[in-house]
Amino acid sequence: MTILDGKKTSSDIKEEIAIAVEALKKQGEKTPHLAAILVGSDGASMTYVGAKVKACELVGFESTLIEMPDTTSEDALLQEIENLNNNKEIDGFIIQLPLPKHIDEHKVLMAVHPDKDVDGFHPANVGKMALELPTFLPATPYGIMELLERYEVETSGKNVVVIGRSHIVGRPMSILLSQKRTAGDATVTLTHSRTKNLKSITQQADIIVAALGIAEFLTGDMVKEGVTIIDVGITRVDDTSKKRGFRLAGDVNFESVAPKAAFITPVPGGVGPMTIAMLLKNTLLACSRKE
Ligand code: NAD
Repeated sequence: MTILDGKKTSSDIKEEIAIAVEALKKQGEKTPHLAAILVGSDGASMTYVGAKVKACELVGFESTLIEMPDTTSEDALLQEIENLNNNKEIDGFIIQLPLPKHIDEHKVLMAVHPDKDVDGFHPANVGKMALELPTFLPATPYGIMELLERYEVETSGKNVVVIGRSHIVGRPMSILLSQKRTAGDATVTLTHSRTKNLKSITQQADIIVAALGIAEFLTGDMVKEGVTIIDVGITRVDDTSKKRGFRLAGDVNFESVAPKAAFITPVPGGVGPMTIAMLLKNTLLACSRKE
């Protein structure tokens, strides 16, 4: 069994980006600049944004964090987005999700200029992705594709089962893996909460991408020998033995699945760090495109 080490791979990617940034600076070119908008004070969101800002510093990017209170109106947020769209210093920006309930997420994501949409959530970029045109790929699926590529996991002709059909993970994952590309050419089944007899489907899978957000959902009896497992889930599970009172659990029961797997991502240290590295990669692309 081989661990698909997202921590190490993401750190390799960040090193590659840092070298590219150094070269840009030497040539007197603009330093890539990522901005993030955080609305409210959700603990997990603050941790994620903090990690993104820290990663920017690490690779030599400029970064700007815009913090807005829970009570921020939709109009005020849309105005902030417009400011970032028009700010020539900012190459790309993200709006940390989820947003407070009174704000229409779709409206907000639509307001981001597609050329600065480094999360790859704007319909124009989702459409380009589906049509295999150059664009910003959504960071989590992009990170998974990169991990599969760098570990040379064979995907061509393989049966892939994706669990979860969200717009940011499951759906794009199913599109990318079915395309004619490296880490593509797979036969993909996209499953979700209404899927019947999921176990009989996952048991046939050569590769499983679990992105449903239910801690340790996928168990050893649901997979076949030699399977490749990509665990996207991150759920906080109460754990009084930890100082912070919780631990992070994936969607896969590692203990029972890992012994049967050929490749598996751990949680933490698998998909999570890759997501941040790919966000940086998209920002570098946004900056170089402008040049
Ligand atoms: P979501 O809640 O938007 O979607 C969950 C999907 O799972 C839905 O499509 C639903 O139909 C499906 N589902 C729910 N119960 C199911 C069941 N019993 N059987 C089959 N399918 C079922 O979730 P999301 O935003 O895609 O996130 C999924 C998980 O991945 C969460 O734990 C989230 O925190 C994590 N996540 C991690 C990263 C990362 O960087 N590692 C990035 C994004 C999301």
